[in-house]
Amino acid sequence: MSKIAIIGAGAAGCFAAQRIKELCPGAEVELFEAQDRPLKKVAITGGGRCNLTNSFEQVGDLREVYPRGHQLLKRLMYAWSQWDTMSWFEERGVALVTQEDECVFPRSQRAMEIVNTLKRGLTIHCGRRVGLDDLKGYDAIIVTTGGSRNFSWLEDAGVEIVAPIPSLFPFKLQASGLEQLSGALVQDSVAMIGGTKFRAQGTTLITHNGVSGPCILRLSSYAARYLAEHGYTAPLVMNWLGDTTEEESLQMLKDMAKENAQKMVVNTHPEQLTSRHWEHLVQRAGIGKEVRWNGMGQKQMNRLASVLTSDTYQIVGRVPHKEEFVTAGGVSLNSVSSTTLECKTRPGLYFAGEVLDVDGVTGGFNLQAAWTMADAVARAVAEKYQ
Ligand SMILES: Cc1cc2nc3c(=O)[nH]c(=O)nc-3n(C[C@H](O)[C@H](O)[C@H](O)COP(=O)(O)OP(=O)(O)OC[C@H]3O[C@@H](n4cnc5c(N)ncnc54)[C@H](O)[C@@H]3O)c2cc1C
Repeated sequence: MSKIAIIGAGAAGCFAAQRIKELCPGAEVELFEAQDRPLKKVAITGGGRCNLTNSFEQVGDLREVYPRGHQLLKRLMYAWSQWDTMSWFEERGVALVTQEDECVFPRSQRAMEIVNTLKRGLTIHCGRRVGLDDLKGYDAIIVTTGGSRNFSWLEDAGVEIVAPIPSLFPFKLQASGLEQLSGALVQDSVAMIGGTKFRAQGTTLITHNGVSGPCILRLSSYAARYLAEHGYTAPLVMNWLGDTTEEESLQMLKDMAKENAQKMVVNTHPEQLTSRHWEHLVQRAGIGKEVRWNGMGQKQMNRLASVLTSDTYQIVGRVPHKEEFVTAGGVSLNSVSSTTLECKTRPGLYFAGEVLDVDGVTGGFNLQAAWTMADAVARAVAEKYQ
């Protein structure tokens, strides 16, 4: 009978154990967990509701949602997709709902339902932080220790590591008056890092010291390494009108000027923007509160069109994100087999989950990556050691 050890009883570790037991019922699987309970992080995912996957209906290319690891996941998701994840949990009695934004949650809105399903029937040794040398006599060791800053124990074992850096974080901006709109949401915005090709689209949340929301978190993920290398300082260019070009924005302003000739510019805002946000942008374009539409010069109108579509702020730091964060970097994908995730230099050693240099944007993509990679390892182990 084969003996398998799993280091880390988180999402990937517990799911790998479940899948090995299904594929290879005779295997003896033991999990070692450093904390006093397994799946502590899963219990707090999605604000305690657990966004366990995504329908991927709005995803054209996996590159958009997995800035690192999209090629690997493309291959592995043929074997374990989001639909497999949904069926697996539903077959075990967890009713699921897909929200309008395509994020999938348990219908109960309780992450603990996912935790309880994942840990059912497993042998988990809690309070046991272990290294590779602590585990003797196992046929295979699966490392599912999640995102971390400390990979030295794996480096010492000859595993290639890509320097870990944080991903999914809000930006701290130099004070500009924007912070006075704290709490405001801009539904369709485009955010870019000036002078680069990094660009994301979606909802932006204005905070007391900068910007956050899905659009910004996505941009932080795309530009994670660039921003780390630049000390989290860079220009942030906002298009507050989504995909609208500067010319289109100018045309919109001309139309507004025609319709509202006698009115104050500051009092007539485009429907996409709130009155307070509009007031801020009008002020940024240097247009006084008393200026009427028919009194606005061409230069002022050009400036306003430009502020609406390429409004530049200065990123001065990274704000730790409490709701969801992941580590980019970790075990290099070059050092593992792209089908089995077995270490090329240490046969019998496997990796799955955030410990690998794979990470996604928000929306259930990180947990889906954990399920998919865990399944790949489970299949490989079941085949090799049954
Ligand atoms: C607050 C928050 C909310 C999130 N919400 C979502 C969400 O809604 N949807 C989503 O898709 N993603 C979400 N994520 C990301 C997601 O939780 C992770 O990507 C996912 O948990 C990674 O799974 P994992 O098994 O690789 O690592 P983890 O779940 O982090 O598990 C790793 C485990 O290994 C243990 N461990 C580490 N080292 C050792 C050792 N040496 N010995 C023994 N045990 C060890 C750790 O204690 C831990 O329990 C969220 C993240 C955070 C922080």
